[in-house]
Amino acid sequence: MSVERRRKRQRRVFTVLLGMSFLLVLYILRIAWLQFAPAAPVMTSRASTQLKAESVAQRERGLVLDTGRGDFYDKSGLAITGETYKALAVFPLQQKARTGAPKELTKLADALGVSENALGGWMRGLKEASFWRSANERLPHKLTERQLGMINKLHVNGVRVLPYRNRYPEAFDPKHVIGYTSQHPELLRSDYSERLEAKSMKLTDQTGGSGLERSLDQLLQGVGATSVSYFTNGADEPLHGLDLRLTGPNNPYYPLKITTTLNLPIQNRLEKYIDKNGLKEGAVVVLDAATGDIVSMISRPKLVVSRIGVEGTDSANHAIRAAVPGSIFKLVTEAAALEAGMTNEGESFFCGGNYGRYGLHCWKRGGHGTVTLQEALAGSCNVAFATIAERLSARQLTIAADQLGLARQVGWTSEHAFQPLGKPLKQLQDEEAGAVFAVVPSMRDGGQLAQTGIGQRDVRMSPLQAANLMVTLLHQGVVHELRLVSEIHYGNGQLLTKLPRQLAPSPYGQISLHTAQTLLRGMEAVVAYGTGRSINEGRWSVAGKSGTAQVILGGHERINHWFVGYGPVQSPRYAVAVLAENRTPGLSNKATVLFRGVMDILAEDEG
Ligand SMILES: [Zn+2]
Repeated sequence: MSVERRRKRQRRVFTVLLGMSFLLVLYILRIAWLQFAPAAPVMTSRASTQLKAESVAQRERGLVLDTGRGDFYDKSGLAITGETYKALAVFPLQQKARTGAPKELTKLADALGVSENALGGWMRGLKEASFWRSANERLPHKLTERQLGMINKLHVNGVRVLPYRNRYPEAFDPKHVIGYTSQHPELLRSDYSERLEAKSMKLTDQTGGSGLERSLDQLLQGVGATSVSYFTNGADEPLHGLDLRLTGPNNPYYPLKITTTLNLPIQNRLEKYIDKNGLKEGAVVVLDAATGDIVSMISRPKLVVSRIGVEGTDSANHAIRAAVPGSIFKLVTEAAALEAGMTNEGESFFCGGNYGRYGLHCWKRGGHGTVTLQEALAGSCNVAFATIAERLSARQLTIAADQLGLARQVGWTSEHAFQPLGKPLKQLQDEEAGAVFAVVPSMRDGGQLAQTGIGQRDVRMSPLQAANLMVTLLHQGVVHELRLVSEIHYGNGQLLTKLPRQLAPSPYGQISLHTAQTLLRGMEAVVAYGTGRSINEGRWSVAGKSGTAQVILGGHERINHWFVGYGPVQSPRYAVAVLAENRTPGLSNKATVLFRGVMDILAEDEG
């Protein structure tokens, strides 16, 4: 046998032996698996319980005292969300452990103002630790001083007074601008797949459903809940005694504190005011005229967290939802025509009431007669503005709108990935952009231009954008990005990040100072002698523009009432937009009256 052949044979033998060893290992593993694998399908339920009892003698359960979610503050540091109060925690105990102090239980029932039977029955039925609440309470009952005094003297097994962190205080009227939290498994799956996989989150965890609760959710989630742990035996029955332990992340940096630009006292006063004065559907936006910061934002119908989707409530924020603006848009038409040199302050128009084309009429029967450009704006003359719009191209109208911050989003958005999030941050995630034309027309269409020029047809604008239009004109055409959150702090007060003011310039540049001034004088005329003269009197002198827009809802004609303006005229402090939606045709402009009321409240606040 040659050396060569012997080597080959040795190699073959080695390969065969290696293969056999491998099979042997597999066989041993298989036997081991059969021996030790749990044979769950054939095990009886009692055997299963026994096994569980043997393997897990005790199991830890938790009652959440604080979810650890970050909170919101107004610009002066007033808490918008989050309050801690004392509540009654009741832990499930085995029957024999609960007995022994019947008189104490009677006293406890007395303190809570319920019958002993009802309280005892509820306690016996408990499967998990719970905070006590009365029949008509949604949240754990906030113990009064008197109740605390009575309860602190008692020693009822399995009953403790513990601090409970409630996210939405009783006095807190849910606000669309803040939003709400609830269970949203679909959002958790898209935003937190890694944390779900790592089991640091469950699909039943709460997450932001709208507003800032949603757009800042990843910052708000924090690092875990603080809870009171108690122990159950392997059969998941509570232990005889009660062994409590406080567990929590104990991290000084969390939960985070979000400082908004909102003025909470003003927001609350305005909410009361508009409810008292019957704004059922619509929005109010108040911006700081100097900075574009959002001072207040109100939407109706109300957000009722427990009744989302029920009639008479609405989770959508109408302040950032685009609606038909009607005559508010005449400001844009005028700006476009002034910029294009298609009209000037010296021009006069004649309105006989009927435009003579496209079935278009002036709202004023018999017409305005001969009017100057300023009088046409003050009187909101449809004939004059349809005439002006027909001189323009669709592109000229579109460009003017963009220059004025319309038909695009103006909410604060980080330019780059927002460092704490790892992606760009949009403060107003649900903001609608609005439009001038649904589709930019390829052919010139006089009827479309005329109707667009008076703010009908496809034109859409949100109250937020309408208020910002005032800020833009007051700043001679400089468009601001609107801020709702200004700073984020760690739990210990240390600054995490600032969200600085930003501008939102148009790629088409800005309107001229002259155009801005002409529009501002025009809006003063609206209140001095035009459609806004009914609100001429008040704490502050104001200027603005009214709008009455036709909309078709469910096949019926309805009206959107608008008023957008600023005050005081001499040194503007606030820009305000009021939208009253879905109104019966023929009623007087609700938004104009509310605008004056809002301005008076703002003036009062200024002292
Ligand atoms: Zn007219």
